Amino acid sequence: MILIDGKKAAAELRAELKEEVAELKSKHNKVPGLTVILIGDLTPSQIYVRNKEKSANEVGLKSEVIKYPDSIEEKTVLEKIQELNSDENVSGILVQLPLPKHIDKQKVIEAIDPSKDVDGFHPMNVGNLSSGYESSIPCTPLGCYLLIKKIEPNLSGKKAVVVGRSNLNGKPMTQLLLKENCTVTITHSKTKDLKAECLEADIIVAAVGIPELVRGDWVKKDAIVIDVGINKTDNGIVGDVHFDEVSKNAKALTPVPGGVGPMTIACLLKNTIDCFKRSQI
Ligand code: NAP
Repeated sequence: MILIDGKKAAAELRAELKEEVAELKSKHNKVPGLTVILIGDLTPSQIYVRNKEKSANEVGLKSEVIKYPDSIEEKTVLEKIQELNSDENVSGILVQLPLPKHIDKQKVIEAIDPSKDVDGFHPMNVGNLSSGYESSIPCTPLGCYLLIKKIEPNLSGKKAVVVGRSNLNGKPMTQLLLKENCTVTITHSKTKDLKAECLEADIIVAAVGIPELVRGDWVKKDAIVIDVGINKTDNGIVGDVHFDEVSKNAKALTPVPGGVGPMTIACLLKNTIDCFKRSQI
């Protein structure tokens, strides 16, 4: 079985991006800039943002974090986004989720200029992705896609099952696999027989949030299995896939941690650079 090393793949991607940033700097005399807005003091969000900033600096991007307290008014956040939209030194804007309850997440997402939407959550980017046009692609599914392509460059005609239909993961993942000419089944909590669906799959992407949901006898021999899940349990962090069981059947499998997670941040940097490049055309 191939253990898909997300840490290594992310380090390779960051090295490529670092070179690209250096080339862009010599061509345009400036570097792409990423601005993250962090609201409140949730520990996981603070850790994510710190890691994003560190990785952005590592590849040579200009990075900035704007911090607001939990009590910040929605209006202030929307005004700041407008300011960043018209700042030509800002190539990408990310508002770290989740947001405090009094702030309307969708309003915030839609306030970001789609050309600077490095999360790929703006409806215009969602529509562009599903129409097959160029767009920012949500970072986690993009990371999964790049890992799958490393194992199997030609996905045409493969059967893929995506478990979970969130806007963040499942839906964009489905679009990416469709674009590669996979035959895609998207499953969710109301799917009648998830095991039977998974058993058909050459590729399984699990993005559910249920510890070890996908079992060894759900997976066809030689399937590629990508585990997006990050679940805190009494036994530590586990994915949505039962690693020990599935590793006996699968052709390739991502571990948790060290699989999809590291690729997510590397893809955020990629999206920032891509936004910058599109703005220079
Ligand atoms: P989400 O928004 O909660 O969506 C979960 C999806 O799973 C929903 O579509 C839900 O179906 C489906 N589902 C729930 N129970 C199911 C079942 N028994 N069988 C089949 N489908 C079921 O979750 P998310 O934001 O996509 O996150 C999923 C997981 O990925 C979480 O563990 C999260 O922590 C992790 N994650 C990891 C990364 C990373 O960088 N590695 C990034 C983001 C998220 P319904 O639509 O019918 O409710």
